[in-house]
Amino acid sequence: MKTGFIIKQISNQYTLKDIDTETILIAQARGKFRYMKLDESSSFNKNVTARTKKEPKTIMVSPKVGDYVNYEIDGDQVWITNIKPRKSELERPDVVNVDQVLLVFSCVRPDFSFYLLDKFLVILNQQHLPPVIVVSKIDLVDDATLKNIQEGMAYYETLGYEVYYVNSKQRIGIDVLAHIFKHKITVLAGQTGVGKSTLLNALMPKLNLKTQEISFALGRGKHTTRHTELYLYNEGYIVDTPGFSKITFNLYYPDQLRLLYPDFIKLSATCRFNHRCIHLHEPGCAVKEAVENGEIPISRYENYCAFIEEIKQQKLKF
Ligand code: ZN
Repeated sequence: MKTGFIIKQISNQYTLKDIDTETILIAQARGKFRYMKLDESSSFNKNVTARTKKEPKTIMVSPKVGDYVNYEIDGDQVWITNIKPRKSELERPDVVNVDQVLLVFSCVRPDFSFYLLDKFLVILNQQHLPPVIVVSKIDLVDDATLKNIQEGMAYYETLGYEVYYVNSKQRIGIDVLAHIFKHKITVLAGQTGVGKSTLLNALMPKLNLKTQEISFALGRGKHTTRHTELYLYNEGYIVDTPGFSKITFNLYYPDQLRLLYPDFIKLSATCRFNHRCIHLHEPGCAVKEAVENGEIPISRYENYCAFIEEIKQQKLKF
């Protein structure tokens, strides 16, 4: 059986790359396929049976960019016959099997935000998508501002996150970033204006993504056909459209949040109420103590408390 990898989709037309011969083929899918999917929220709480199902369910899906598929050739038609199991799925962009997310934050316009950083890290942790952090526009701030950001980021580096500083326009810091793409599918994410397209253009100067960014900014009107594409870069693939334009928690109970903070989890064994501690008002909380001692940045803890409130508000809306 022949196996291909989908690198491009325009409506029901798929561009496949045969995984053995690397031949490029244009294929179509005969409708949808049966697919076993484990419910996304199943690993979270056991109490909320209404929203979570522990068993895998059979659903019907269409092939997507990033899929490994079986295909057959019938005359001059190429048909996709089966979709291989996916390891991850995103809705925007519509890509599967993503290995990592390049989180882009600019130093200025918009200002660097630890609030958004913490929020992205929670959301990606929940989706089991490892982030790589890129700080852009380092040339547009003075040394003191950049130093502040770097000092703040040092904590995140101790948690194991990779952090890169770039000036995409002059290609500063771009070459050291290149190795992270090898053998992986990468999606870029970040607020509007942080320079995702400029970064993509710096990585792949042959592409001109500027027009694309403009048409996205103007809204959906211009792009009526669904078009997603992977670009080969340094033996890996980069998704052409940025993801996570809307970042909201997919959490229903505030006490789920602490499980998405690796640093808090480590400390919670020494909280007086151990793993039941949600690190808010409990006496003998090791997390609060670490904040007071300066071991955890105050901003990180304050953002955590703000997120708890946001999740509570979200819950009230149901
Ligand atoms: Zn605690």
